[in-house]
Amino acid sequence: MIFFDNASTTKARKEALDVFNNFNENYFYNPSAIYKNGQEVSKLINKARADIINCLGGGRFDNFIFTSGATEANNMVLKGLLKNKNSKILVSIVEHPSVYNVAVDLKNQGYNVELVKVKSDGRIDEEDFLSKIDENTALISIMHVNNETGAINDIKRLVSLAKSKNKNVIFHCDGVQAFGKVKVNVSALGVDLYTISSHKINGLKGIGGLYVKTGINIKPLIIGGGQEKTLRSGTENTAGIYSFATTCKLAVSEQEEKFAKTTSLKDKMIKGLEKINNVKINLPQNENVSPYILSISVLNGKAETILNMLEDKGIIVGNGSACSSKHKDNRILSSMGIKMSEIEGSLRVSFSSNNTEEDVDYFITEFENVVNEYLKSTNRRN
Ligand code: PMP
Repeated sequence: MIFFDNASTTKARKEALDVFNNFNENYFYNPSAIYKNGQEVSKLINKARADIINCLGGGRFDNFIFTSGATEANNMVLKGLLKNKNSKILVSIVEHPSVYNVAVDLKNQGYNVELVKVKSDGRIDEEDFLSKIDENTALISIMHVNNETGAINDIKRLVSLAKSKNKNVIFHCDGVQAFGKVKVNVSALGVDLYTISSHKINGLKGIGGLYVKTGINIKPLIIGGGQEKTLRSGTENTAGIYSFATTCKLAVSEQEEKFAKTTSLKDKMIKGLEKINNVKINLPQNENVSPYILSISVLNGKAETILNMLEDKGIIVGNGSACSSKHKDNRILSSMGIKMSEIEGSLRVSFSSNNTEEDVDYFITEFENVVNEYLKSTNRRN
């Protein structure tokens, strides 16, 4: 099976599994316990925390809170920083549902939420962004790399623009599709909060976390025994945490090499796709797009049917975000001005460094066959 749906999840690497198993075997004690074994585990968790902070390029070791994944971290940000109903929350229209749907829910509860537009390249519309920041804006949440298009936002610039308009604004960035894939340094970006997740970078599922700059006070979502500086109660996923730190260190040390590899795979893929009739690349490809994600459309196609036909050939791709695959419309692509007839046939091809050139060759050959077969059967050739 050739897997081109790596933006939805990745295969856990051996090192992540080995560390997880070893930790469970030898350090299963509760880190809150006061006996030596428990304290040792507590120290190891803090070592993992320090390692991850180091990978993120930011601050003190206690600036990182472990969560069950990015969805929880993003919920924590939006719900844990709520002030009164007048203070404004600004999120982009293309955020992942773990930000977007929370924002919509808050709006329905009467909170002051506004959506920032994007341009046809999938990146933040700066004019719209700036026009929506005022003295009431308390929180801004803008993603680093979009999970459906790969569009990379210039977070450093957006933070600086936002803070020059309102110095008190808190800036959160969902970095799930960026960390370990493109260069990330939270201090250089200037963000106050940054979300990451393990399973998108060949780590295990069920673990992720939030970088929280010193001085940002969040209210917890989960209250209990006071773990994670009372921000996230519940006995820690100790082995998952330790494995996550290993995954992060490896991802960051291999980032450049893997970036180069996926860039060449994606370039090859694009060259092949450009030769296929009725296939469109959905956004201009340049340095502002991640090499890990490629959004394409089969003109007048139905994504689900094409996806199934590809699966029969042993190829797995995504149709937009896995989280939104039930919806016919696509909030991300439609906000970029893409036509409905193109959205219906949109697919997401997402790479990992485990993919090979042969995978790309096979994909191109079979994809062309599938598109021709599909369009012939529906008589919808353009
Ligand atoms: N944000 C983005 C940009 C994502 O791509 C995802 C995963 N689809 C998430 C958040 C949610 O991550 P998790 O699965 O760790 O909750």
